[in-house]
Amino acid sequence: MTELLRIENLTKEFRVGATAFPAVDDVSFALRSGETLSVVGESGCGKSTLGRVIVRGIEASSGTVVYTPPADGAGADTDDASAASREVDFLSLRGRRLKRFRQDIQMIFQDPLSSLDPRMTVFDIIAEPLRATARPPAPVVRERVWDIAKKVGLDPSHLRRYPHSFSGGQRQRIGIARALVTGPKVIVADEAVSALDVSIRAQIINLLKDLQRELGIAYLFIAHDLSIVEYISDRVAVMYLGRIVEIAATDQLFSTPHHPYTEVLLSAVPQPDPEVRRERIVPKGEVPSPTDRPPGCLFSTRCHYASELCRTTVPPLVEVEDGHFSACHFAKELALRGLSAVAPDTADTAEAEEDRSVPTG
Ligand code: SF4
Repeated sequence: MTELLRIENLTKEFRVGATAFPAVDDVSFALRSGETLSVVGESGCGKSTLGRVIVRGIEASSGTVVYTPPADGAGADTDDASAASREVDFLSLRGRRLKRFRQDIQMIFQDPLSSLDPRMTVFDIIAEPLRATARPPAPVVRERVWDIAKKVGLDPSHLRRYPHSFSGGQRQRIGIARALVTGPKVIVADEAVSALDVSIRAQIINLLKDLQRELGIAYLFIAHDLSIVEYISDRVAVMYLGRIVEIAATDQLFSTPHHPYTEVLLSAVPQPDPEVRRERIVPKGEVPSPTDRPPGCLFSTRCHYASELCRTTVPPLVEVEDGHFSACHFAKELALRGLSAVAPDTADTAEAEEDRSVPTG
């Protein structure tokens, strides 16, 4: 798979009074064509901010987002140009070039109702990104909006209605149609199914997967529900306090995590078989304030394996297995529990915690 987006050292700082803190802290990764890369982590870890910075909903403090349009896609220089010659520094684009490449990188939001203007018809809501970027003639807009509406399962005869007359699932279909109408290569989906009922959630996830198969779109899927993430993702990146602490292929990350924070997240995934009990690993203490982050490893105040080294030295994100990266000093030494690991029937959480080996390096 070829690289579509390359995020390099991306940082977004916010201010609280006189204190600046990074909600996104020096994040680097690549998104490949046609893949789903999920970004997971607790509420407030910076994953939604990361998505908004990438689509330029908010401006980055520093770092780059390099977009390489497919050779046959909108924005390609020539058919035979090398990928490097097509690279676009997306965050520095202005004016017409920004409009042109905005067509390729779109976003779906969590709450369909609050993200859709209640005073606009559904037709105009879906057409808006097209009119704002490519500005095609009215008949082309009409045909494109009808095509996309049918593709996402909306009845085109309902397009003159307003968002409030649609159900939650239908409203999310409107949001997806709006993101699709410009023919994007990348969609950032920010908690796109979190607000939906369980049965509707499955329909929307299957719709997203079908659209990806048909249109070859790459998703950056921002979510906190690891059951959905396991189902939908090719790769998963785990964020903690603004930094990526682990990134790997989905099956690798779920079966053999190499970061203690990932182990914590996996231990909280509901077990579908009531006969099987999994030990829940509860991290120590509370999440540190973003304005008062610990030195060294950001997880060191909560990690059961932390040593002195962790409290003084930032662990770099390094490759511990093929395509599997972890930012933990002991990523190779620790035998962490994946999703398939279950506690024996007699296991007691407190005892199990005492048994957990703590490296002394
Ligand atoms: Fe825990 Fe240390 Fe690894 Fe950080 S570097 S996750 S504190 S063991």
